Amino acid sequence: MQLNFIANQSVASPSGRTLPVLDPSDGQPFDEIQRSDARDIDAAAQAARACFDGPWSALSAAERGRLLMKLSNAVAAHAGELALLEQRDCGKPTRQAAADAAALARYFEFYAGACDKLHGETLPYQSGYSVLTWREPHGVTGHIIPWNYPMQIFGRSVGGALAAGNVCVVKPAEDACLSLIRVAQLAAEVGFPPGAINIVTGYGHEVGDALARHPGIDHISFTGSPSVGTLIQQVAAERHCPVTLELGGKSPQIVFADADLDAAIPVVINAIVQNAGQTCSAGSRVLIEQAIYEPLMARLGQAFKALRVGPAALDLDVGPLIRASQQQRVQDFLSSARADGIATVAQGRVVDEAPAAGFYQAPVLLADVPVAHRVAQEEVFGPVLSAMPFRDEDHAVELANATHFGLVAGIWTRDGGRQFRMARRVKSGQVFINNYGAGGGVELPFGGYKSSGYGREKGFEALYGFTVLKTVAVRHG
Ligand code: NAD
Repeated sequence: MQLNFIANQSVASPSGRTLPVLDPSDGQPFDEIQRSDARDIDAAAQAARACFDGPWSALSAAERGRLLMKLSNAVAAHAGELALLEQRDCGKPTRQAAADAAALARYFEFYAGACDKLHGETLPYQSGYSVLTWREPHGVTGHIIPWNYPMQIFGRSVGGALAAGNVCVVKPAEDACLSLIRVAQLAAEVGFPPGAINIVTGYGHEVGDALARHPGIDHISFTGSPSVGTLIQQVAAERHCPVTLELGGKSPQIVFADADLDAAIPVVINAIVQNAGQTCSAGSRVLIEQAIYEPLMARLGQAFKALRVGPAALDLDVGPLIRASQQQRVQDFLSSARADGIATVAQGRVVDEAPAAGFYQAPVLLADVPVAHRVAQEEVFGPVLSAMPFRDEDHAVELANATHFGLVAGIWTRDGGRQFRMARRVKSGQVFINNYGAGGGVELPFGGYKSSGYGREKGFEALYGFTVLKTVAVRHG
């Protein structure tokens, strides 16, 4: 049985209720988490406030950095344990779970080094004045985390907030809590004061909503779906609480005829099958220049047919989806594509060892998808790649920008001028040329245009969002 972690204590929710934890590889329950309510959020917010007003703000920036570095080392030392927890909880293949644990350690390492490099400015002003700016923490920050990359998203969100001098109340997704509870315990073990990192589990509409509404939360960092992002904004607007939103994507991989296809093909495929396509930055559309459309589709089709799907511990190309409803969601997209005459070019194979009750979905490559079709517009959040041909640069830009999202784009071409023209014209928060690296890149600011959200996480840039700028003008004559 998993408990909440508040003020460095493992505590049961006063609700007395729990939720089962299912293993996506076999669909069976193996643990329980607390089904918390507003009382748990209140307790966590109070513990966080006491920490912020007390021991946390008494630390110098360098001391905060040393604590974060200790946490990075503890995560690295427990990487195997954390990866196994997340593998069982989320169905991640072994290599992916290990990569996520390594990324978590790296986030804390990066933000450990950033603590004492964040500073304000002095500004030229009228004679007789000195003006300076301070970057102050918001105070108690709330973090609402999705289930697809719990460790990575915790690392970037909580790591940045702590580095900027905030304390944290974290609401993990109900499907993905185990690794984060353990990380908070590790933080306590390495010396984080009680209340610096608090974890409260439960349903989004109950405990997530309570977090967003709580008057003691000074900033909300939300990563999740656009629809819940809208709710968070509405709730936060009532008390003018600042919000950072990392929402979804429908990211294009744009492949020109002059591209190095040997380099592009494995990256294009990995960008949609990694984490079974449950990645906000998944390259879920491939736009292919007309001249190479047929041959490239043939090669992609061959590669798709070779993909194998199975239990997380077998570490195949693709693991299970997170839960039955996600499996159903992907199936619904595929049914509507079939009903509208969209051709499946190729699909991978679920291996015989996969338990029937697991949440498996073979990767699917769809051809000639009309740009307005929902499978080309909405997030499937599964291993489904929509292909469409384009005529020229203008057409490629038109297709690339033809969704409500704008998170990441990949551009594959050897033409240097075209690389920059395309990068300028594509509306997305990150552009990768002849690579597609959003899965890593702790140092690289990440976030969206349009419905992909606003504000930036990752990199040094994130620290600005986790601070309030105060201007101080001194008239000294
Ligand atoms: P979701 O929006 O359903 O849930 C995200 C989190 O919000 C969970 O912790 C959930 O419990 C909580 N939540 C749900 N309803 C809530 C409410 N009414 N009030 C407060 N909190 C609530 O999304 P999901 O299904 O967990 O994740 C998939 C989505 O997340 C996809 O759209 C994906 O693209 C997006 N995502 C984006 C990024 C990014 O960085 N841009 C990263 C990962 C996932």
